[in-house]
Amino acid sequence: MSNLSYANGGNGAWQTFLAQVDRVAPYLSEDLADYVDTLKRPKRALIVDVPIIMDDGSIQHFEGYRVQHNLSRGPGKGGIRYHPDVELNEVMALAAWMTIKTAVLNLPFGGAKGGVRVDPRKLSARELERLTRRFTSEIAHIIGPQKDIPAPDVGTNPNVMGWMMDTYSSGQGYTVTGVVTGKPVHLGGSLGRVKATGRGVYITGCQVAEKLSLNIENAKVSIQGFGNVGSEAANLFYLSNAKIVCIQDHTGTIFNASGIELNALHAYIEQHQGVDGFEGAERIDNEAFWDVETDIIIPAALEGQITVERAHRLKAKMILEGANGPTYPEADDILNERGIMIVPDVICNAGGVTVSYFEWVQDMASYFWSEAEINDRLDKLMVQAVEDVWACAHDNGCTLRTAAYILACERILKARKERGIFPG
Ligand code: GLU
Repeated sequence: MSNLSYANGGNGAWQTFLAQVDRVAPYLSEDLADYVDTLKRPKRALIVDVPIIMDDGSIQHFEGYRVQHNLSRGPGKGGIRYHPDVELNEVMALAAWMTIKTAVLNLPFGGAKGGVRVDPRKLSARELERLTRRFTSEIAHIIGPQKDIPAPDVGTNPNVMGWMMDTYSSGQGYTVTGVVTGKPVHLGGSLGRVKATGRGVYITGCQVAEKLSLNIENAKVSIQGFGNVGSEAANLFYLSNAKIVCIQDHTGTIFNASGIELNALHAYIEQHQGVDGFEGAERIDNEAFWDVETDIIIPAALEGQITVERAHRLKAKMILEGANGPTYPEADDILNERGIMIVPDVICNAGGVTVSYFEWVQDMASYFWSEAEINDRLDKLMVQAVEDVWACAHDNGCTLRTAAYILACERILKARKERGIFPG
């Protein structure tokens, strides 16, 4: 485990990441195994105070973070999360998963993540803007298009990225579009970015389903989380005639054995801000989500959802990790023993960061591509990554997660080794 004074003990997301690294270590060549400890500590972790003036004139303080886990292969890359449970242990793990994710896709980035412990639903639009601008100015000295490039995550969106870009640019004295990705399209954002993560879940899911001879048409799909990732994955499976039987969001869980009509559901959510109360399905207990008869489960909310106990209960043939870190390592073992295929987060949800990379490249070149070109490039990169991971799992007799970590760690640690340890 870790000997970091600030990340000891507990059963947090960072501990999950450390256990995942321990599992890959025996597969690494000896010369690289010497460098594994590099992954068990973040390169840099910044904690900032974010005071803002609320609409009622009072001052409130929020705690913000930016963690750069590893920069061996290039600038840091990863989202900014606004959520009431954000804390250092979680942000460290999320940053580390970005290191692995960018390496599996062979994007020229390291891994980073940031966040503010706040419930964005409780802030007005003006308060949210003030929070974003103050947070950006507090982390401005460690971000930049060649240093570390934030993006959206849970609780943030293109508008927030636009404010971040504007605030950073004001400090520099000129417009720096490449400092963040996931921006609105007219501010240097990329076409296809908003839907890219859900699209990647669908593309990787279909490819692995084909290998398992699991027919997507009529397959039953259950989705936890109906934000940017879950809703787009649902749309694409629905268009392929899969049956979306169960959806859980922050308002509740809905079930319909013959399939939920998604167009009607989207119209309902627009009015009611959540799935609860939708008349085209029955409301079930949140915990019953894990007992539903289904072929595919897509956890697309937060980490730490698939516990050992739920891993014993759930009925799917395949799990598509739209969220980061939804499965505990011990639950991984149980699912593996039960023959349930997991398409791990570091490849399954990598569509977002892949199109973020395309956005950064377009910003650097000030030359923008069509949506068809972006989707085509995304599909090709993701299909190739699944093929590479699948072959590596086959060669090593291991799970797709371990295989993805083998490929990623080889790339990261080779870079680490070749760069050498300063001052030598
Ligand atoms: N927050 C997303 C993720 O977890 C996207 C990160 C990015 O685009 O940099 O992969």
